[in-house]
Amino acid sequence: MTDVRSRPGDPGSTPRPRKQEQEPASDEVSEVAPSVLRMQLPIFMPGLGHVNMYGLVDDRGLAVVDPGLPGPRSWRAIKARLRSAGFRLRDVHTVIVTHSHPDHFGSAGRIAREADAELITHLAFTVWTLRSKSSSRKQAEEAESEAAAVAELVDAPPDELPTIRDPLRDTPTQERQLESVPWGGETPWGGSRHPMPPFHKRILIRALRVLFTRPDPTRRVRDGERLVLAGREWRAVHTPGHTLDHLCLYDEEHGILLSGDHVLPTITPHIAGAGKGSDSLRSYLDTLDLVATLPGVELGLPAHGHPFDDVPGRVAVIKQHHAEREELLREASLASGTATVRRLAREIFPKRYWGVMAESETFAHLEHMVALGTAERIEDDGPFRYVMTEG
Ligand SMILES: [Zn+2]
Ligand SMILES: [Zn+2]
Repeated sequence: MTDVRSRPGDPGSTPRPRKQEQEPASDEVSEVAPSVLRMQLPIFMPGLGHVNMYGLVDDRGLAVVDPGLPGPRSWRAIKARLRSAGFRLRDVHTVIVTHSHPDHFGSAGRIAREADAELITHLAFTVWTLRSKSSSRKQAEEAESEAAAVAELVDAPPDELPTIRDPLRDTPTQERQLESVPWGGETPWGGSRHPMPPFHKRILIRALRVLFTRPDPTRRVRDGERLVLAGREWRAVHTPGHTLDHLCLYDEEHGILLSGDHVLPTITPHIAGAGKGSDSLRSYLDTLDLVATLPGVELGLPAHGHPFDDVPGRVAVIKQHHAEREELLREASLASGTATVRRLAREIFPKRYWGVMAESETFAHLEHMVALGTAERIEDDGPFRYVMTEG
């Protein structure tokens, strides 16, 4: 899941050319590197037109990376793409999910079940909503215990885990509003709640639920673990930031990085605030530097958009974007005085982006500034408020 963001100073009303991440899914299958296929699956959400399902071909069949949303349209596209590439579903021996967003894991469980395939994620992968009011008590308890178990493994407090909404209740069009906080749930910064989905969408979602198979990883990898796929060795690179469980795969010998949503060719990935005192933006910036300095990367294979060659160059642009956002936020905060996340988000985002996602990213920036000592969080009865500590 990603976010199309206008840069500060954009007029906002002039039509801009379509970004490559917004192109509709082509049914063409292209070989982007020897034994590495790019297959595009349709996703329907503002700002994104397709997700790239990569096929890593070897003599056992193939592994697929990020096989799209749940639902019949996606499923038909998966089978059609595999067919054009000369494969059947049962040739899929491995499914890899780069992170816990539904456009990446949605059909992974079903493929793994129907093809009897291995399902690989990062150690911290979880798809359950925490503290969702609409979940049953049993579901909520399961979610909490899964989160606690994963937190122990990754040595992070449960609050820092990605609190991903229930994918069964998600719809593509709502994707951008529902980042990281359960529907109807309180946001960590206070003062905002996620809207419940409209009635007709709930019906659609119920239909989706029947077709959804929860992705249960058969292998959870840690940073640095090796995977042999497409006849080459890949190193798992843990890249938290966009989500805590984000995973890139790096083929050192051939200089290829499967970058997921960590680095995209023309749009800036969304960074969600993970919780009070948790600096998801720091994790993101640090792991951007990490992938920019991997030796010999000549090809970036993103989850959305075209393959690109200059990973370090793209990292520099994304970092610059966040530096500019931070400066804009600082100015807005100095002008507003002590202010809530919502107020500041509305100062720095154009109106069409107002909502929980904009607030979540503003919250991530503010908590980053608190960690740096350049801002202070004020907690009293209401939502958190923030003030700059130096001019
Ligand atoms: Zn994502
Ligand atoms: Zn995505």
